[in-house]
Parts: sequence; structure tokens; C-alpha cells
Amino acid sequence: MQLLNMLSDAVVISDEMGTITSANQYCLNLFGYEDNELIGQNVKVLMPPEMASKHDGFLAKYKATHTSKLMGKRTEIAAVTKSGKKIEIEIFLSELFRDNIKKYVAVIRDTSHIKQLEGLVLNSALYDDLTKLRTRYALSLDFEKLLLTELRYGYVSAVMLDIDEFQKLNTVFGRETGDIILKLLAHKISLMAQNHEAATYRVSGDRFLIISTNSLEETESADRVICMNDIAAIIPEIGQALNLPVSITAVCMRRPISDLSKKSILQLLEKSLETARRDGNGGKLSQASDVGIDYALELDALSMKLKSEMNNKSGFSLNHLDIAIQPKVNDHKKIVSCEALLRWKDPDFKLLYLSDFIRVAESTGAIIDVGHYVLRRVCKLLSELEPENRVRIYINLSIREFADKDFIDKIIGCCKEYKVSHYLLGFELTESMIAIDIEMVRSRLIELVALGFEIAVDDFGTGQSNLKYIHQLPVSSIKIDKSFIDDINGEADNYPVVDSIIEMAGHMKRTTVAEGVETAVQAKYLWENGVDEIQGYYYHKPMPENDILNLLSKH
Ligand code: C2E
Ligand code: MG
Ligand code: MG
Repeated sequence: MQLLNMLSDAVVISDEMGTITSANQYCLNLFGYEDNELIGQNVKVLMPPEMASKHDGFLAKYKATHTSKLMGKRTEIAAVTKSGKKIEIEIFLSELFRDNIKKYVAVIRDTSHIKQLEGLVLNSALYDDLTKLRTRYALSLDFEKLLLTELRYGYVSAVMLDIDEFQKLNTVFGRETGDIILKLLAHKISLMAQNHEAATYRVSGDRFLIISTNSLEETESADRVICMNDIAAIIPEIGQALNLPVSITAVCMRRPISDLSKKSILQLLEKSLETARRDGNGGKLSQASDVGIDYALELDALSMKLKSEMNNKSGFSLNHLDIAIQPKVNDHKKIVSCEALLRWKDPDFKLLYLSDFIRVAESTGAIIDVGHYVLRRVCKLLSELEPENRVRIYINLSIREFADKDFIDKIIGCCKEYKVSHYLLGFELTESMIAIDIEMVRSRLIELVALGFEIAVDDFGTGQSNLKYIHQLPVSSIKIDKSFIDDINGEADNYPVVDSIIEMAGHMKRTTVAEGVETAVQAKYLWENGVDEIQGYYYHKPMPENDILNLLSKH
């Protein structure tokens, strides 16, 4: 008994009639009994009534046939405590012979807390902690269920909302403020959705989905089923309530549910959202989301095309590629370097943007050939310039090219072939690319810099990383992302994000480059506040090879 009392499982021993002969301390604690209170009672006191009523029958059957569902294996069943509370237990039942007397030994483990934990885990997968809305995971479960019902013959109406430049709001006003915006938006849209018998989900960081599958009629329009006017009213309310510059982009769509097996509803809406934003509809509602859907389908076709080309021996065809070159100037407006930008014009894909082409090329591996193409074009261009007219040209890199084992050999080989000095080439890496695998990136950068190439960090301020990362890397310049430059409109006296990037980069002895400068006001502010170089339409747009050859020759 002393030994049994040391166990952290409950042990109950009973005789052939089911009368309890011993119970250890853990068992007493678990079931809420005092010292010897259980001795002499039937084990049925530990069972819920429905099981207790059958127990004598089970015992008799076991004696006669020696078969039992419980004997010799772990089984999950319910039990009751002295106070009548039902608990979940795992029981392991065995026989024990002593002095020819048979006893039954039950080892019992309380699994209620495990069940509770499982419940909590499932709950947190289904419900978002911050906004209490259902999650993307819950959406996929709900959708699977829906496909099993009559509603699968109907229509789905959906609205997706996304806060514009949420990352920036977080950076400027702090994460706590970001959380408040999310909670308020979630609250308002879920109230509105309830009025329309629609469900609301938080599908990612600052992205929400309202979805209704209630209407079977084809003639209904999405903005009637989920009232877009109500959403339109919510948008300014949020900004006003918090006195913050919050704007939201929303797109809606209505499709037969049967259409959605090929393209999921989320993908279609997400694509549509990107298009709306790029077309300058940020902060407004975009209802003409069919463009977005065509776009998503084109993207899908491109992905298939590149995948099949990659499976061919000849690999990715470079037919529709070209490059454009955009100068960067210093405060004397002198061209100090350039950036090479890929151009892709395939008549089969009229809608797609370059960044999507690059994303698909990355995911299919075609980017390795694309990158090599850009490198060769840049080296050739440099070789065509008189030595005194040459400036460094930066090439954008993707993580996949960077991880390619032949990457550095290819660059060295290309420079050799065109007789281009290494210092004339630079590489731009985005901040988010660095964050993917900082150790790999660091070792590659050290190699590149040792060979004489220059490195710039692109789109700075948009990723998760910060200047601390950059400090550890042999990076010579930092390009402040266009979205921060767009804010400079002359209405404020200063622009703290831009100012602090310039200041910190200065401390770290890194050059700062402002990307996407379009106006005199922006240029003036940036020069006055110490930016080293500017790249943007205000000075030079990206131009074809011949134009840059001319421009640099006259410079
Ligand atoms: P990025 O490297 O940040 O390039 C700057 C983008 O801003 C370019 O867009 C450029 O045309 C645009 N831009 C420059 N000044 C202005 C301006 O004043 N106003 C506006 N509105 N835009 C301006 P683009 O050419 O569409 O390139 C988009 C992105 O695609 C690039 O962003 C880069 O991340 C990627 N990319 C371009 N070429 C390559 C390449 O050869 N390889 C890889 N991996 N990525 C590339
Ligand atoms: Mg770039
Ligand atoms: Mg950039």
C-alpha cells in the first residue's frame, strides 16, 4: 500500500464481486473520498449510473467467458467523483491472483485536464485570440462542411477587407494601437455581418472575410447579400473613432459554390484585393472584382506554363524578357549608380504585373535562368560603355538565386566574359529575403563583398527585420521603401520614419537611397534631411538600354 500511495495514478483493487478492497491515496484525492471511505463499497460508486447499472452483468459475463472489452488494454471512459462530478479517465484493468484469490486491479489516470487542454488548443486554432473571430483554419473546416449540404448548389457571396499599410501603422503608432484598430474593425464588421446572417473570419494579420452562403438565387448580387454600403460606412468610422489615418480596401465577389473547387475563395479574393490596391483603389471599396478573378486565373495559367517549361529539357524560354535601367542620383543630380529592372511582356499574359511574374518564376525555379539573363545583359551593357562613363549597376536578387550553389561562379564567369570589373556590379536584396535565412545570407554576402561586389538592402522598412540585422551584414547602402517616401507630401514639418532611418543608417556608416521619389517636395525634404541618393521618376524613369547608353555618355 505504501508503494501504491507513491504513485501518481489512481489504483483501485476489488474482489470478484466488485467490492473495493484497497484504493491508494491518489485515488481518494481524485474521487474526493476520505481515508478508508471506499473500502467495502462496490466499484459501481465510481461509475456514472448508466455504466453502474450494467456492471454486474459485465462481471458475470467475464467470469463465464473470460472476455471483456476493458481487460488488458487502456480505455477512455467516464467516472464520477463523490460529489457526483463526471470526469474523463483512462483505465487499465487487469487480474491479480494472490493465495488463489482473484482480484481486479484498475489503474486510473485522470484525462480531464488533457481533454480540457485539447479543447483549448482546438479553440485557439478555431478562434483568433485578439479579435475572437473565427480563423482561416475554421473557414476551411466550415467550407468542407458546407460542401456536404444542400447549399453547395447555391452561391457564395464574400467580402474581403484589408487595412491599408497596416505594417506602417504598427511601426509609427505602435503594436498596441495596431491591436486596437484590429479589434475595433473586427467588432464592427462582425456586428454588421450578423445583421446579414453572414459569418466573419480573420484570415490573416489585418485581413478579414465576411461570407454568406444563405442565398440560393442567382440574381442576388454580392453587395446586396452582404451590404457593401454598410461596410463603406464602417471605414471612415474607424479612422475617426481613433483619430488615426486608417483606410481599408475591400473587394467583394459572388460565385457559384461549385466554381470554387478549382480556385479557392480566399485566393480569388486575395488576388482581387491586390489588383484593387494596385489600381489605386486603396481606401475605397472595389466592387468590380471580376478583374481580380481574371487576374487570378491568368496567374494560375502562368504558373502551369512555367512549370511545364521547367520540365522541358530546353528549360525556361527567355523570349519575352528585357531589361530597363533606372539611374540613382546624388545631391548634385549626378548619376552615381543605376538599377537594372527586369521587363517581361508576354502577349498571352496581358494583365500580370512584373512582381507576380517574379513570384511565379521564384516558385517554379525559373528565376535562376531569369537572374542569369539579367546578369548577362547588365555585363554586356557595361562592356559597351566607355570606361570613364561606367557607373555601378545594381541587380535585384531572389532568395532562390542566392541559395543556388553556382551563383557566385556564374557572376565571376560573366564578369570575366565581358571584362567587367567586380566593383561595377552591385546586388539588391530585400529585407524580407535577409530574414529568411540570415546565416546563409551573411556567408554569401561576405563572399561577394570579398570579391569586390557591393550590396544594398532593398525596400527597407517593409519587412519584419530592422537595422540591427543590417548592422551585422556587409551592406553598403539602404534603400528606404517607396511607401515611406509616398507619405512626404509637404503637409507635415517632419516625417519621423524617414528621418530615423536616415539618422540610424548614418550612425552605421551606410549610404541611404530613397526609392520612388516622384515630386519636388519629396526630393527637397530628402536632400535637406541628409539622404545620400535618390532614385525615382522625379529624376529618371527606368529606360531602355540605348537611352541609358546615351545618357551616361553625355553625363
Ligand atoms: P524594386 O527593386 O524595389 O524596384 C523599384 C521599383 O520601383 C521598380 O518597379 C521601379 O520601376 C519602380 N519605381 C522607381 N521609381 C519610381 C517612382 O518614382 N514611382 C513609382 N511609382 N515607381 C518607381 P518594377 O520595375 O515594376 O519592379 C518591381 C520589383 O520587381 C522590384 O522592386 C524588384 O523587387 C523586382 N525586380 C525587378 N527586376 C528584377 C530582377 O531582375 N530580378 C529579381 N529577382 N527581381 C526583380
Ligand atoms: Mg531593387
Ligand atoms: Mg525597392
